[in-house]
Amino acid sequence: MLGRMADFLSLGLNPQLQRACDALGYDGPTPIQEKTIPLLLGGHDVLGIAQTGTGKTAAYVLPLLMQCKYAQGQNPRALILAPTRELVMQIYTVMQDLAQFTDLRFLALYGGLGPKTQIQAIENGIDILVSTPGRFLELYRKEVIVVKELKHLVLDEADKMMDMGFMPQIRQILEVIPYKKRQNALFSATFPERVENLSHEFLEFPHKIEITPQATPASQVKQFVFDAPNLKTKINALEYFLQNPEFERVMIFCRSKEVANQVEKYLARKVLSESQVRVIHSNKGQNTRINAMQQFREGLVRVLVTTDVASRGIDIPKVSHVINFDVPLIYEDYVHRIGRTGRAAEIGESITFVTLAERYHWAKIESIIQQKIDIEPLPSAIYEEDTPFLERQDMLRAVDDQRKREDPDFKGAFHEKKHKSRPKSSTNSNQKSSSKTSSSRGKTKSASKFRSNTSSIKKKR
Ligand code: AMP
Repeated sequence: MLGRMADFLSLGLNPQLQRACDALGYDGPTPIQEKTIPLLLGGHDVLGIAQTGTGKTAAYVLPLLMQCKYAQGQNPRALILAPTRELVMQIYTVMQDLAQFTDLRFLALYGGLGPKTQIQAIENGIDILVSTPGRFLELYRKEVIVVKELKHLVLDEADKMMDMGFMPQIRQILEVIPYKKRQNALFSATFPERVENLSHEFLEFPHKIEITPQATPASQVKQFVFDAPNLKTKINALEYFLQNPEFERVMIFCRSKEVANQVEKYLARKVLSESQVRVIHSNKGQNTRINAMQQFREGLVRVLVTTDVASRGIDIPKVSHVINFDVPLIYEDYVHRIGRTGRAAEIGESITFVTLAERYHWAKIESIIQQKIDIEPLPSAIYEEDTPFLERQDMLRAVDDQRKREDPDFKGAFHEKKHKSRPKSSTNSNQKSSSKTSSSRGKTKSASKFRSNTSSIKKKR
C-alpha cells in the first residue's frame, strides 16, 4: 500500500468491496466517500449535504455492506428510504454492483407493482432493504417486514421526501423501528430549515459533511464538446489536436487508470516522444507522481494524462488545454477538471469527447453547470474508426441501463433484441456485420496521414 493515495481499503473497507470498486473502474474514493465512509464505519450518525453526481450513494452503501458483512438470519438489518421508485432502483443497482463479491441479500421495494414477489423475497430472508416510505409501511403493517433487527437507517434525498409530503410516513417509520443502538444517516441535496429540524429529530450528535458543487465553470474557459463514436476515434482525435502547437500544456482526463495507461502508452509511442508525456493515477507511487507533476509544472513535459482522483487539489498554473477523454461520472469533477485551464485571467480551452453511452452523463453535467453546449461532429480531418462489436454492445447496454434508470417500466430494447434474434453461436458473424454497418464517414486513411493538417480548433470552427 505504500505510496498509494487513500483507497477504499485504507478507509476501512474489506478486500471484497475494494475488488468491486476496482471492477467498476473507481480509481479511488470521491471527497464525500473519503469523509463519510470512516465515520459510518466508526458507528457515527452522519448528515450529508450532497447532490447526485458526487458519489453519495456509494458513500453510504459501502459502509452498510461492510457492516452487514454476509447473509445472516431472516430479518433486515439495514433500511434505506428514498422518495421515488426511480431512486430506489438506482440505489439498488449501485448496491448490486458494489455487493457483487458478497452473499448479501437485498431488495428494492416500491409501489405500483403487486407486492407478491417482494413478500416472497422478504420471507426467504433479507439483509438490506431499499424502499419508498409508503411501500415499507404497507409491508410492515402486513407483518411481512419484521423490524426488530434493524440497526442502520439511511434517509436519502430527505429534502425531496419532504417536498413530496412523506414526512408523516417517515415519522411513523421512526416510531416503529428500534431506537436503541441504531445508526442513522441522512442525505439531502439542499439544507433548508425543515431538513435541519428533521436532522435534530432523528440523528444523534451527527457529523455534518457538506460537499458543495462548484456549479459554474470559470468564465474564461471555452468549452468544446465533440461526438466521438468510440475509443479508437478518441485516440485519433487526441493525435490530431496534439499536432497543434497551440496545445502547449495539456491535461488529459480519463475515467480509469487502465484507460489513462493506454492513452499514455499510445501517445508516448506514436504521437509524442516519451519525454513529453507522463501519466499519474492512484497506482503510481508517491514519488513518481510528484516528479511527473514537477516536470509538468516546469514545462519539461507537455502532456499529463491523469484520472480525477490523482489530480484533485493540485494547483497547476497555465494549462492551455484540458481534454476530457471520457465524460466524468462524478459530474462535479467536470468543473474541477476544466478549472485547470483558464487560470489567472488567461483564456483556456476544454475539449470533451462524448460517445453514445456518455450522452446521458453529458446532459446531467449540462444541468449542473447550467449551460447548454452543442455536441459537434469532430473536425473532418480526424479519421473515424468503426466501432468494434464488443465496444458497441457495451455502449448499447449502457444506454439501455440509462433508459431503465429514467423509466422503470422500460424493458430494455437491447436485451430483448439480443434474446430474440441472436443464438449464442452467432457472435462471430455478428461481429463482422456490425463492424461494417457501424458509423463511418467513408474515409480510409489512418489518422497519422493527417499529421500535417493541423490547425487550431478555433480556426476549424
Ligand atoms: P451518485 O452521486 O451516487 O449518484 O453517483 C454518481 C456516479 O458516480 C455513479 O454513476 C457512480 O457509479 C459513480 N461513482 C461513485 N463513486 C465513484 C468513484 N469513487 N469513482 C468513480 N465513479 C464513482
